[in-house]
Amino acid sequence: MSATRVLVLNSGSSSVKYQLLDMRDSSRLAAGLVERIGEETSRIRHTPLASGGETRESVGPVADHEAALKAVAEELSRDGLGLDSPELAAIGHRVVHGGRTFTEPTVIDDTVLAEIERLIPLAPLHNPANLTGIRTARALRPDLPQVAVFDTAFHTTMPEPAARYALDVATADEHRIRRYGFHGTSHAYVSRATARLLGKAPEDVNVIVLHLGNGASASAVRGGRCVDTSMGLTPLEGLVMGTRSGDVDPAVIFHLARVGGMSIDEIDTLLNKKSGLIGLCGDNDMREIRRRIDAADEEAKLAFDIYIHRLKKYIGAYCAVLGRVDAIAFTAGVGENASEVREAAVAGLETLGLAVDGALNAVRGDEPRLVSPADARVKVAVVPTDEELEIAAQAYALVKK
Ligand code: ADP
Repeated sequence: MSATRVLVLNSGSSSVKYQLLDMRDSSRLAAGLVERIGEETSRIRHTPLASGGETRESVGPVADHEAALKAVAEELSRDGLGLDSPELAAIGHRVVHGGRTFTEPTVIDDTVLAEIERLIPLAPLHNPANLTGIRTARALRPDLPQVAVFDTAFHTTMPEPAARYALDVATADEHRIRRYGFHGTSHAYVSRATARLLGKAPEDVNVIVLHLGNGASASAVRGGRCVDTSMGLTPLEGLVMGTRSGDVDPAVIFHLARVGGMSIDEIDTLLNKKSGLIGLCGDNDMREIRRRIDAADEEAKLAFDIYIHRLKKYIGAYCAVLGRVDAIAFTAGVGENASEVREAAVAGLETLGLAVDGALNAVRGDEPRLVSPADARVKVAVVPTDEELEIAAQAYALVKK
């Protein structure tokens, strides 16, 4: 029997998330998370989905990524799904920044590792953690193909007018400053799933994807290829997010430094961690914001309105970028669940062919679905994202014999 399983690893600076999938039917065999790596109170949570067993949780020090991955391997072994299994075909790694180099999922060798390392200045928090995960996994199974799937890859098709900032060219080129975009795995998966929902081939549809999670980004996808996206050099640009500001006048930074006396690091923290919804109202969970709005909380209402205003601007902008739009797809935690966000985002955009049907929009579910009126010119869809499945599918496609 040929190997059909793929382990997907998402290694962050202090956590490792994982899923083991069987690509014969895309089923999930196990999933879990190691958190607070390097602390005394690290936590491992493992759910053996194949056997339908209970989630196992343990707390105790996990020193580093190597120890974390060994703990994951042990948990998997307990279910007979160990890393030594001949059924394991590959390990797929989420890698945040692939720069302009990586336009496709890539089988990892020493040259690829060196290039991911060279890109560290573009993603100083993420790429080192991703690299640690890859190196540890390679040490555990040196013979097994390891595949890097890049968050930026889907956006490498952006044409130059969308990818370039209007900066001095020599300076921008020297520092590799351009718009790379992120969440690419999700935008790729959701744009294709939206085409399927419409009964069309991806080449035949133009879609605006709104990935609204704690991080949030929009993309304009023409015939299956990304032509614009809201995140830029880093994931800070674009929409209002849980804790990130999204677009601001860059001069805000000079002002905070010169007039506010803040350091660059303080401003970085302000814009990335203390802005967005949490900066505006103290909460970044849309459910809590909704609850506060229902209780007539004006601060929460204003935060929601600012969030929606920015979202609408991007919808309008991407209608202009695409010219013809077939569908708008909402995805991720907020996009999939917050019907009030979907309703507010398209309210008043009837002249663009956009509307939601109140009853359809209120229905909850795990399947891709349309929430626009039957005769809508532009379909509005809710399409649950599945980045792990997409990473596994891309990795498997590369390595299957
Ligand atoms: P990320 O992967 O970026 O951490 P997710 O895509 O999981 O984020 O989205 C997390 C966000 O989704 C939460 O912060 C919360 O605001 C929102 N969310 C989750 N469930 C719901 C819900 N039922 N209603 C409204 N918002 C929700």
